[in-house]
Amino acid sequence: MAVSEAALRENYRRLSDEKLMRIASEDAIKLRSEALALLKEELAARGLAETAEKTIAAQFSVVSEEGVAEYCALLQTQPCPICRSSSQRLNATMTSKVISFLVMTTWKKQFAIACPPCLDKLNRDASTTSALLGWWGFPWGIIRTVQALVANGKMARNNHAPYPNDLLKAFVVGNIGRIEAIRANATDLQALIKATHLC
Ligand SMILES: [Zn+2]
Repeated sequence: MAVSEAALRENYRRLSDEKLMRIASEDAIKLRSEALALLKEELAARGLAETAEKTIAAQFSVVSEEGVAEYCALLQTQPCPICRSSSQRLNATMTSKVISFLVMTTWKKQFAIACPPCLDKLNRDASTTSALLGWWGFPWGIIRTVQALVANGKMARNNHAPYPNDLLKAFVVGNIGRIEAIRANATDLQALIKATHLC
């Protein structure tokens, strides 16, 4: 059964401004239209409507190639979250790490945004770990380790792209409301980039 309008309104009323803005910037696109209307109502009652408007609109707009490039550039010009250098534009990678333990073989994929040399190192470290700890599980350890080494090698080829690579663009499109909400705040942008290393 759907949550009643009154219950939903009460739920929004109980949330802090911060939490409400977080929903506006990250989840507006996922809400049913009635829920979105109630969220906007509550934001307006708290005088936050204007602040939230852009971040909500960003999630619903069909973002042009130029728009994506602009958001990518915002992230790419931040200092690297690993070495703190600002000398190179940041980009994104996906590392694949395979670890075998007795009969179990685990495959862990990790997305990360950093400067190209640090991305290379992340891919290299994931390959080294897989080569040392992944191969001996049978049969998946061997198969997955080979796959991980290939995947890391393939990903590393895009680390030095002179433009935002597809992974970074996909991240931007998936987080567009959030980036719009914090676009003028370098500290928050850097926190968003750093958080990708922890998920
Ligand atoms: Zn770096």
